[in-house]
Amino acid sequence: MNRTIELVKTIYEIKQLEEFHEPQIALAGRSNVGKSSLVNRLAGRKSLAKISSKPGKTRSLNYYRVQPDGFFLVDLPGYGYAKCSKTEREKWGRLIEAYMTANPALKAVVVLLDSRLTPQKLDLELTSYLRGLGIPVIPVLTKADKPKQRERAALQTQWRDILQQLRLPLLFSSKTGMGEEKLWSILAEYADV
Ligand code: GDP
Repeated sequence: MNRTIELVKTIYEIKQLEEFHEPQIALAGRSNVGKSSLVNRLAGRKSLAKISSKPGKTRSLNYYRVQPDGFFLVDLPGYGYAKCSKTEREKWGRLIEAYMTANPALKAVVVLLDSRLTPQKLDLELTSYLRGLGIPVIPVLTKADKPKQRERAALQTQWRDILQQLRLPLLFSSKTGMGEEKLWSILAEYADV
């Protein structure tokens, strides 16, 4: 299916949060994990989402409408950038919490994990937080073109066990397109469209 993605709303503060009733799937991950590259890959464009030259600078929450399905991909601000201040981190937490709690349109959260790194504390905190809220997690290992082919399957099982998930995380590469079709079908499944 040929899908298009269009940015329909960008918000910076809780008071701007809007209720869209269409199903939503959020994208979350640490700064520099490859989230903008993934959005651009899904959009089939080079520059829909900004590729971060300064990681951690985009603190906005972006609503993208996917057509023809009609669901939203909601790009959450990247977390865990060491250089951002405590005040900024707290603001991030409050915005995400406000977005995630009491949002029946939110069907799942894609948690992006850097396949080149060992599991990071913040990733584990996020997945257990989501589990607590009863929101399904779709784990995606980014930059999967980097690890050697023979290491990829082992990475998937390690991450599955650490995250206490039943499903293997998806291997994804914005560079090569690995996992792209599979991710679309998982998104459509969770959005139930
Ligand atoms: P964000 O901060 O999560 O939005 O991350 P970006 O999309 O800006 O990517 C961070 C860095 O990782 C950039 O230098 C990208 O070129 C690189 N990157 C992103 N995706 C991939 C990928 O699939 N493969 C490789 N090799 N590098 C990637």
